[in-house]
Amino acid sequence: MAVKKIYKLGSNVLRKKSVQVKEFDQELERKVEDLHDTLLNFQNEYEIGRAIAAPQIGYHQKIVYYNKDGNEILMVNPVIIEKSSQTFAVWDSCFSFNVNFFVKIQRAKQIKVKYQDIKGEEYVEEFSDDLSELFQHEIDHLYGILATDHLEDNKDIVMREVWERKYR
Ligand SMILES: [Zn+2]
Repeated sequence: MAVKKIYKLGSNVLRKKSVQVKEFDQELERKVEDLHDTLLNFQNEYEIGRAIAAPQIGYHQKIVYYNKDGNEILMVNPVIIEKSSQTFAVWDSCFSFNVNFFVKIQRAKQIKVKYQDIKGEEYVEEFSDDLSELFQHEIDHLYGILATDHLEDNKDIVMREVWERKYR
């Protein structure tokens, strides 16, 4: 149980690819607890944010953890197996940017994700809109990809205070 340091934009740690989780053991449970503690701590401090990916705290394993008002989704080894061709514009940010700024990027409107739970049980689930763009963001982290990598126009960057006023 620990609040871990979140690696920030510019750190090579965020660019390293994560590996598949193979052991569904106590070590995995401990890492999920660290993700939980770190996410909730960050949510309290920054009053924003829904999910975190393991490489953001330096664990290069394919784990994504979501917690919004106590509703949890844990994804171990998530893979996007289907993506709608329809996209939508999203103002995206990241704990690794301290949520200081937002970038306007395109994300698929719907995705289908295959993942495992903490015991290794397999699930396939569809997500649309908010959760679709969120899990695309988190799964990107597992491949060393950040929201800023999707920028098409470098004018589509705004500071959080402007985003709060204009787009929230
Ligand atoms: Zn992020």
